[in-house]
Amino acid sequence: MSDPAVIRNVRPWGGSAADVTIVGGRVGSVVAHDPSAVPSGVTVIEGRGRLLLPSFSDVHVHLDSNRLGLPFREHTGAPGVWGMMLNDRNNWRDAETSIGERAQTGLRMMIERGTTRVRSFAQVDTDCGLEKFEAVLAARQMYRDRAEVKVIAFPQAGLFLENGTAELMEEALKAGADVMGGIDPCGLDKDPVRHLDLVFGLAEKYQVPIDIHLHEPGELGHFSAALIADRTRSLGMQGNVTISHGYPLWGVSEAHTRTLIETWAELDISTATVAPGGRFQLPLADLADAGVRVGLGEDGQRDYWSPYGNADMLDRTWQLAFVNGYRSDHLIEHALAVATVGGASILDRTVPRLASVTDRPGTSVGDPAEFLLVSGDCVSAAVMDRPSDRTVIHRGRVVADQLALV
Ligand SMILES: [Zn+2]
Repeated sequence: MSDPAVIRNVRPWGGSAADVTIVGGRVGSVVAHDPSAVPSGVTVIEGRGRLLLPSFSDVHVHLDSNRLGLPFREHTGAPGVWGMMLNDRNNWRDAETSIGERAQTGLRMMIERGTTRVRSFAQVDTDCGLEKFEAVLAARQMYRDRAEVKVIAFPQAGLFLENGTAELMEEALKAGADVMGGIDPCGLDKDPVRHLDLVFGLAEKYQVPIDIHLHEPGELGHFSAALIADRTRSLGMQGNVTISHGYPLWGVSEAHTRTLIETWAELDISTATVAPGGRFQLPLADLADAGVRVGLGEDGQRDYWSPYGNADMLDRTWQLAFVNGYRSDHLIEHALAVATVGGASILDRTVPRLASVTDRPGTSVGDPAEFLLVSGDCVSAAVMDRPSDRTVIHRGRVVADQLALV
């Protein structure tokens, strides 16, 4: 835990200038900034009038597939989940650097840009075995003092299409995976009951939460979502299930949308988005009003799946605001709340859900000292301009400054 510290002259969520003390890794006090005060016996972090924001929580990233920092590469993937998966499978071993180095580079760049809370997928299949999983674990170990990282064992190629995948998934859980992953129970394995029985069964056996990639369209997606909700309820897994992506769920009908929001609020099923373009957008305001936890992530970054992504959650926050057509300051700030505390409330269910689109938690007495200091006239300005004058604080200690580790 950190030594006592004071962050001088910062503006929490763009409010008036304050001095913020940190004790035991948490906020001890927030008082009006006093330019004449000379703190002694504590570490002083100069805010210089910058914004004080909660640090980012990236709750949907694939640290095992990024090519950040490597030469740009022509996109060669065929459309669809299977085609993209094969593109990665055919190329990942031949990258300019090892999978271990790439996972470390990705995590380092994320921390440097303001992310201190991470939930990363690690692909487990018969091609890579546990190689990618171990690469993500090693990256977590390398930066254990700078960020908190949870790892999801992820069956990117389905659980039953290739013999041995299910056994490898259990090996990953035995080796310390924090979360059990699943993917398109109907669309990929084409056997939703068997898929979800295994996902929920292993989660129960190893006492871990669940995160399921769901790209299935229309009624099929709602069918799978209903099966997931049924199991969540009957197995008492409330508060332990996340549906990732799920974007096609929101374009079916108003009645479908209403049922989904009510069910997820009742069962505390959370959702993670990567702010994709296209027709289907999450009803963020309705989800917040209902109390559904929503987090943001960067997905695969500049990898064999997609050329997008640059390790910067402030950029991804801009994207979330953009694809939702946000112009009002309070909605742009809400996008930032989702990207920070929204995700944190998925990683740790004791963190309260965002109460509404105007809820701005994370910088008050008692909150964990996970912060981003960033220049900007106001929060909207920082989201639009994405300045490089940033200081990143984890457990009350500066871990990165001006986009570089310290
Ligand atoms: Zn993903």
